[in-house]
Amino acid sequence: MYNKKTILPVNEKGFYGNFGGAYIPEILYNNVKNLEIAFAEALDDPSFTRKMDTLLADYVGRPSPLYKSEYLSRHYGANIYLKREDLNHTGAHKINNAIGSALLAQRMGKTRLIAETGAGQHGVATATVAALLGMPCIVYMGATDVDRQQPNVQRMRMLGAEVHSVYSGNKTLKDATNEAIRDWCCNPTDTFYVIGSTVGPHPYPEIVAYFQSVISREIKSQLLKKEGRENPDYVIACIGGGSNAAGAFYHFINDQNVQLVAVEAAGLGIDTDQTAASILTGTPGILHGSRTMLIQTNDGQIIEPYSISAGLDYPGVGPLHAYMAHTGRSKVIAATDSEALAAANLLTRHEGIIPALESAHALAALDKIKFDKNDIVVVNLSGRGDKDLATYIKYL
Ligand SMILES: *Cc1c(COP(=O)(O)O)cnc(C)c1O
Repeated sequence: MYNKKTILPVNEKGFYGNFGGAYIPEILYNNVKNLEIAFAEALDDPSFTRKMDTLLADYVGRPSPLYKSEYLSRHYGANIYLKREDLNHTGAHKINNAIGSALLAQRMGKTRLIAETGAGQHGVATATVAALLGMPCIVYMGATDVDRQQPNVQRMRMLGAEVHSVYSGNKTLKDATNEAIRDWCCNPTDTFYVIGSTVGPHPYPEIVAYFQSVISREIKSQLLKKEGRENPDYVIACIGGGSNAAGAFYHFINDQNVQLVAVEAAGLGIDTDQTAASILTGTPGILHGSRTMLIQTNDGQIIEPYSISAGLDYPGVGPLHAYMAHTGRSKVIAATDSEALAAANLLTRHEGIIPALESAHALAALDKIKFDKNDIVVVNLSGRGDKDLATYIKYL
């Protein structure tokens, strides 16, 4: 029923073309079904959307500014705007989804939030909203990430969340996600799983995209004021699982004259085995409940992805992005570690904005597109770089 509401190219089974679906153990069938119904009802309930909009405004600080970078505009010969998700409370776009999801959990009578996290940004966002709503929160995090992302681990603990180190596999995001799904299977009645990106079984990719769609909704009205038209010529965003890109693309997906550019992390290069470019180097397969493009061996073993950016080194990608890339609706570009570092340095030194390493990949794509001088280009600056200072200092 709620598919009538979505403008995404998804059918009622959660398929985006051949991608997506809900490959889940039977014990979760009811959860996923109830989630779908609760989401539809919530969107129809003005008291839910009012509560969400109030928090997005007064707690997150939305709308986030749409800032024209005069320096980048001169440098690249086009009108370059930055959508400043880095200015949100907790420093990235992740809070948009955490708020929507936690309010949905509350509405469904769930009493316990769980989440997976890689770099810790989604864990921090979920722990933040859990504190706000007075709900207990458990965050699964690979032991490797717990070691290398200590500041975020400490933030989560300060916020009252329990951080569970995961020692299976490579002890990173994929393994943390497996553990969160395991917890959800054991506690299907009282627990709400807050997924951090447009991944996982249907209806998660659609729900997370919807909660992030506030980004493109704002871009439209901000551009109308600044440029006299709602649609830019390009929207550029990095993709790990694809939630900031889904939010930045959402209201433009059916406007074919807006070019949507998804930037994957090439790591050391897409012709090496040290990469996280799932669409450009992957093959179709099933991971975490969804059929999508995966970095895997011929016999379906996940190959551990690599990127300098912890938020982008996921072996898969949201089914929406796999589909848009395959149909040509989006253009996929890869940016290497060193290209992202150079782009971060450029923005920092000329605009005084330190971007997240993830967002720096989106900025790096500006170098790879031939613009017309009248083009209006929006780069989604998904987060701020405070969490990446140690990496920047090491390499720059
Ligand atoms: C988590 C994260 C990403 C990657 O996740 P998506 O779901 O692809 O958006 C990108 N940028 C920042 C700042 C992040 O924290």
